[in-house]
Amino acid sequence: MHDHLSLSDKCPSSQFFISTFYHFVRIADPFSFKLELQDQAQKLGIKGLIILGHEGFNTTSSCESEQNLEKWKDLFKSRFNLEKLNNKDSLSLKAPFLRFSAKVKPEIVTTGRNDLNLESSQMGKNHHLSPDEWDQVMKNERDDIILIDTRNWYEYKIGTFSGARNPHIEKFTDFPQYFENEKIEKSKKIMIFCTGGIRCEKGILELQEKGYDNVYQLEGGILQYLKEKPHQEFKGECFVFDNRVAVDQELRPSQVYRLCPHCGQPGALQKECVRCDTEFQICEKCVEIAVKKDTCSKNCAHHWSVRPHQKGSHQYRPHEMNQESKE
Ligand SMILES: [Zn+2]
Ligand SMILES: [Zn+2]
Repeated sequence: MHDHLSLSDKCPSSQFFISTFYHFVRIADPFSFKLELQDQAQKLGIKGLIILGHEGFNTTSSCESEQNLEKWKDLFKSRFNLEKLNNKDSLSLKAPFLRFSAKVKPEIVTTGRNDLNLESSQMGKNHHLSPDEWDQVMKNERDDIILIDTRNWYEYKIGTFSGARNPHIEKFTDFPQYFENEKIEKSKKIMIFCTGGIRCEKGILELQEKGYDNVYQLEGGILQYLKEKPHQEFKGECFVFDNRVAVDQELRPSQVYRLCPHCGQPGALQKECVRCDTEFQICEKCVEIAVKKDTCSKNCAHHWSVRPHQKGSHQYRPHEMNQESKE
């Protein structure tokens, strides 16, 4: 019997290879490096966001060709003479990025402090714990440590380590003030973590500057932890700054969350737009707000409030998140 498979049945639908990595290394001319990267990204079909600065680079990049993504990583390795990139990789059937964007900034992760210098030799070795070491401490010293999630409140909300403190911050630059207010004893053992590790690299320097020497960070962040230890101490999903919104315990794109069209936070509540009948997901906050709660987009919300009960055309467009320099 002949099989009548169409082309799309034969070819598995395209998938996207994703790699997240950063490195603190002196870049003399980030602007010319940016042009070089834009050129290479175009050639290799790389999409994603890269933040560049004199202090290094920080990116989540994706490509439909695994081979080309490897070439992209090699470019950084050979350029800066790196043995490894400490990249955190994952897969997605959904495009995490729609385009490539490179931005030059004073810092590759924003602290508002450009005097925190990570380009020195201690870089990447400052009180790092591997996922195994991390779990050991969590198991053996649980009652003696203070575990702090350095991420923003909406990241904490959808998944974190059990027992982690929530700083309730809106952005990472607010972390030092939160810490100041906590008035933790200087000798206390403190464990901090973030998505991929970069926020903690600087966070740890700031805490050391305040006189806290007993601070440790999770090497490679939650992404590395989940890769090595799914379904263990980390509970829930890990927020990521791209179209996937979050990744689950197996680093697959979230099946639970989509971006709330009104505020950009993760939303899990399924709704249908009263104006254009488009399905969308809304967050817990916006679902409390009149007009927003029933509309799929800012556009529909506007039209519905001006002309209630008048139907209109499809408005919702999945928008690309701007991860700025959060990770
Ligand atoms: Zn919302
Ligand atoms: Zn709508």
